[in-house]
Amino acid sequence: MASEKVVDIAIIGAGPGGMATAIEAKLAGINNILVVDKASTHNDMIHKFYKKGKRVDKDWMGRKAEFEGNVSFDECSKEEYIKQMDDLLASHGVLDKFIYDTEIWNVVKAEDGLFDVKLSEDNVVKAKNVVVSVGRMGKPNKPGYKFPKAIRPRLNFNLSKVCNGERVMIVGGGDTAGEYAYGLVELEGMEDCTVTLNYRKPTITRMNPLNTEMTTKHLDDGTLINKMGVDVESVEPVGDEGEERVQVNFTDGTSEVYERIVFALGGTSPKDFLVNSKIETGKWDEPLMDEKTLETNIPGLYTIGDVVTDQGSIALAFNHASFVMNDIVAKR
Ligand SMILES: Cc1cc2nc3c(=O)[nH]c(=O)nc-3n(C[C@H](O)[C@H](O)[C@H](O)COP(=O)(O)OP(=O)(O)OC[C@H]3O[C@@H](n4cnc5c(N)ncnc54)[C@H](O)[C@@H]3O)c2cc1C
Repeated sequence: MASEKVVDIAIIGAGPGGMATAIEAKLAGINNILVVDKASTHNDMIHKFYKKGKRVDKDWMGRKAEFEGNVSFDECSKEEYIKQMDDLLASHGVLDKFIYDTEIWNVVKAEDGLFDVKLSEDNVVKAKNVVVSVGRMGKPNKPGYKFPKAIRPRLNFNLSKVCNGERVMIVGGGDTAGEYAYGLVELEGMEDCTVTLNYRKPTITRMNPLNTEMTTKHLDDGTLINKMGVDVESVEPVGDEGEERVQVNFTDGTSEVYERIVFALGGTSPKDFLVNSKIETGKWDEPLMDEKTLETNIPGLYTIGDVVTDQGSIALAFNHASFVMNDIVAKR
């Protein structure tokens, strides 16, 4: 049975933005929070992408920064910065709020007005507010086979490029694959698409009950073509130069031609996260939000840090955390 836990704030991402939000919440007297990160440590991007011994600048890339909230750091090396953050989180007593190795695909406001944050199939936490601080470095999972250059534009990770009339194959067996597959079948303006669902297993085992029901209904009535129980071995271009389509070679020796393949194999890009959470985005995929409070078009859902700007820094992410907390506190 699903967990009934309700938190005041769920924070997605434990980078500078997420961890500073946890500290700001604690200082504002809000203890019932949760921080979820797909990595196994806080500040994982800094662990992974900063060189050994790199100096962590306050005025990153020449942009002058002042700390406007309660969280700050002293300029130092990468290793010392991580130590400072370890100490800061420990001294504020928030480390037990952090859940690691857990990737969140989206956050959706349910009919009860609370956000569903799905930690696993049978563990959905409800949240009154959500702060999305997922940075910009996320990438969707790719299959092991090669993507030949000529057909790369036709090999996608969400539905945004699908055009009406195309033969489309969705690859995957989880909720996202199901939502993409039956979502596309039912999408207004896409009536002339032919949609196939491919999953290496013969039956649906990983979708929630609603997605299982919807996907099964369309598979049963034939509006969704069933290509389950077989894996893809390779993809190759077929057709005239410049107009190549995708020939998919399956492990059972069969092959089919499609205009587009959409992979839903887990792993989220920031853009996918925003789209899947129904957050309105602008021309450059940036979330549209109130510049002072950082609240998106969805009340109670905030986006902060690098996912909001291409000129991000640690200080800016820290400051965003305090702007959000001011708004949450003001609305309590
Ligand atoms: C090489 C390099 C050097 C830099 N040097 C400096 C510097 O000296 N000074 C400075 O101020 N700035 C520097 N920056 C920029 C700074 O690191 C970023 O602005 C800052 O880390 C942004 O913090 P954030 O919390 O928004 O995102 P991130 O630090 O990217 O954190 C995002 C977190 O979200 C997690 N996450 C992502 N998707 C999901 C999901 N779906 N579910 C769960 N968790 C998820 C990630 O694992 C990650 O831990 C540098 C950046 C780089 C790349």
